[in-house]
Amino acid sequence: MTCHNCRIECKRKGRDRKGNQRYQCHQCRKTFQEPREKPLEGMYTPLNKAEQILKLLVEGASISTIERVTDVHHTTILKLLVLVGEKCNRLMGRLIVNVPVKDVQCDEIWGFCQKKEANKWPFRASFVLWRSFSAPPAVIVPRIALRHWYAQASFLKLCSP
Ligand SMILES: [Zn+2]
Repeated sequence: MTCHNCRIECKRKGRDRKGNQRYQCHQCRKTFQEPREKPLEGMYTPLNKAEQILKLLVEGASISTIERVTDVHHTTILKLLVLVGEKCNRLMGRLIVNVPVKDVQCDEIWGFCQKKEANKWPFRASFVLWRSFSAPPAVIVPRIALRHWYAQASFLKLCSP
């Protein structure tokens, strides 16, 4: 373990209350611990509980059901859903590139939050989950966007070679 300031090797110095190893620099006397992986980016929800919530979401359980079953507040569930969704989006953007395909089939699943487009309020917009299937290999590329022609155009541009 190296000190951030002095760039020298540090000695071990006890553990924190959770049992993580702490280190101290013998030059600047600063103490710190090894950087840890934070898959939930600052959320305090335990990983096993987050996993249970995600499994229930994938099974199609409602937010209220998950709230009752797991004793986790609905805003935490929604925050977790957004976080994982963004991470999945980044992962797919990184992994699904340059896939050789012959045919692409595009489809849309339309949904809305509380109100449809005709009588929407600025923050309650309808959306479309654009998805494309390619075969072979079978890859599903989903894109969530507002239901407008330019969203469709940008999605088709993304699919085109
Ligand atoms: Zn130091």
